[in-house]
Amino acid sequence: MERRDQPQTLGALVASGYRPQSVRAEMRRNLLRRLATNDALIPGIIGYDDTVIPEIENAILAGHHIVFLGERGQGKSRIIRGLMGLLDPLVPAIEGCAINDEPTAPVCSVCRRRRAAEGDALPITWITPDQRYGEKLATPDVSMADLVGEVDPIKVAEGRYLADEDTIHFGLIPRTNRGIFAVNELPDLTEKVQVGLFNLMEEKDVQIKGYKIRLPLDIVILASANPEDYTSRGRIITPLKDRFDVQIRTHYPRTLDEEIAIVDQEVAVFERADLPIRVPVFMKEIVAQLTMEARASSEINQASGVSVRVTINNFETLVSNAEKRAVRLGEPEIVPRLTDLPAMTASTAGKVELEYGGEDKSEGDLVERLINRAVSKIWEKYLGLEHCERIVAHFEAGWGVEVSDRMRAEEYQEGLRQIPGLGDAVARLVGPVESPGLLAAATELVLEGLHLHQKLNKEREGGRTTYRA
Ligand SMILES: [Zn+2]
Repeated sequence: MERRDQPQTLGALVASGYRPQSVRAEMRRNLLRRLATNDALIPGIIGYDDTVIPEIENAILAGHHIVFLGERGQGKSRIIRGLMGLLDPLVPAIEGCAINDEPTAPVCSVCRRRRAAEGDALPITWITPDQRYGEKLATPDVSMADLVGEVDPIKVAEGRYLADEDTIHFGLIPRTNRGIFAVNELPDLTEKVQVGLFNLMEEKDVQIKGYKIRLPLDIVILASANPEDYTSRGRIITPLKDRFDVQIRTHYPRTLDEEIAIVDQEVAVFERADLPIRVPVFMKEIVAQLTMEARASSEINQASGVSVRVTINNFETLVSNAEKRAVRLGEPEIVPRLTDLPAMTASTAGKVELEYGGEDKSEGDLVERLINRAVSKIWEKYLGLEHCERIVAHFEAGWGVEVSDRMRAEEYQEGLRQIPGLGDAVARLVGPVESPGLLAAATELVLEGLHLHQKLNKEREGGRTTYRA
């Protein structure tokens, strides 16, 4: 469907059999088509198939304004933008209109006059979904002028009266007419702007500088908010809250596999520094588990939440730390391992809000505790003490093993040869592989798990760690 193949004047448009449709009807029609063909409502959304998606489908079919409630990093913005996919690829609008007026029934005074004057010759333009989508991050600085409009002093100076609709410079919402307007963090709008938004949604009019202008816009409003902010008294004016027909609660991934699937989708690392990247499954699981531990931690403010971006950024950090090692030591592959985990402190700390308690709390210590919990769980998943008895016996005979994020992967081979049972434990983690990097990573997990289960002591000196019984 090319723009140039479409009718270019009102007369040609009407002659083509064109029937105007509201945004709601258009979104409904496109959703019904997808339901009939089993196409995804929003591609790339993981973990919401049985929870959020069915609720969105019902809301769209019912023609509702939606508010999405969820903590940070639950994909709310992605869902909202994804719903643009329910708009037609091209719809006609009156050329030059600031508010995308529908050609057969224009709303703004300029278009109404032009239609009367130009008749069938009125020029038509064809607009795309992104031209019919607007979004605004709500802050206390967002004004009525931004969202609704203001009097244009230049037009007033040209001799128009203030009460004349022609003097208005339309804001973001009217400019999204016949489309979708999204307000992120809705409770951060001032009460005055909330009233303006309500009037637009409910009364179909706008008040600008005391003048009421009728503006029957055709817009689906989607909003997002943190649940605690939304329900706090006084943050949202009641009539506006009532105007949102449905609240849809988003959530974090419910399983480790979903958390990892999101990382795999968002971080496409196949090769860096011309070297292959091999990430052991258990390393991905540790990174995802760390986030899950953070979401369950009483030391972290759970009202703001722990974003999936923590997992994504930690994973990127881990790969980067491993990349540095590979480049410095001239190794043939990039393999993240446990001694890279402390590097994640920097990518975790800024994304979680600590709860205020009586004691002094350091983000670094907290991240270390979370890492330990995550490593412990993943170690138990694959190993457990019953698979490590011979290894422990060897250490009890007085042996020690040194590891470091600066050591060559080959240096771990000697321990694998000398410590009875270590090879078997490592094989449980990575299978029968030849890769020195994977073997080194698995060796570190075996030893650290034994330390976390009080079977080995751990001494740190400089960048090196020594495990002993
Ligand atoms: Zn217009």
